[in-house]
Amino acid sequence: MNPEHIAQNLGLILARIEAARKSALKPAPATRLVAVSKTHDTAHIRPALEAGHRLFGESRVQEAQAKWAPLKREYPDIELHLIGPLQTNKAREAVALFDAIHSVDRPKLAQILKTECERAGRWPELFIQINTGEEPQKAGVAPKEAAAFIAEVRALGLNLRGLMCIPPAAEPPAPHFALLAKLADEAGLAYRSMGMSDDFETAIRYGATHVRVGTAIFGERDYPQA
Ligand SMILES: *Cc1c(COP(=O)(O)O)cnc(C)c1O
Repeated sequence: MNPEHIAQNLGLILARIEAARKSALKPAPATRLVAVSKTHDTAHIRPALEAGHRLFGESRVQEAQAKWAPLKREYPDIELHLIGPLQTNKAREAVALFDAIHSVDRPKLAQILKTECERAGRWPELFIQINTGEEPQKAGVAPKEAAAFIAEVRALGLNLRGLMCIPPAAEPPAPHFALLAKLADEAGLAYRSMGMSDDFETAIRYGATHVRVGTAIFGERDYPQA
């Protein structure tokens, strides 16, 4: 992607978010754009920063550290969200770097996050990832196990704020967004992280509070990354 087009794409996506919110029957009180910059280098991130955007999503802890530590010194109000899977041995770095983690999906990870949050005195906002399509290869808690896991994370005293899902690629996403919204409602959780480049407008109709958009802003990624 030509860096000149990135600020333009960003403006377009923000406008589409506003339009989708206006036409939705029950949009969330606010919908934030997490600009997913994984695999893209600083030269491609800068135009978005210069356009005033501050909320970014990354999939890998080490890549994010390398790219964002210098940028955060320049732009102290950057907000970084981890949207990819988190290994327990990266929990300490993740708690230090990220303002939110969208991929909490197992008791062991929750326990280690608790230890690391206490140690750092930093409590990132947490989302539990729900495997709404019950795909065996995909991360996330099965819908029927969501309530028990939510209770477990709450009991640890973590800063649990919402749920996240990635619908199966080959299915219409709407039923998955509806299910995520229902589970969040039932649990009294305010945040719903759902919707990507191809389906964020649909997600907004189902109450998305955070849409995670990469390709539509930064272009195709040169190498695949979860
Ligand atoms: C890469 C990624 C995105 C962004 O996907 P695009 O289709 O490029 O918008 C959103 N969410 C997660 C969890 C991702 O890994």
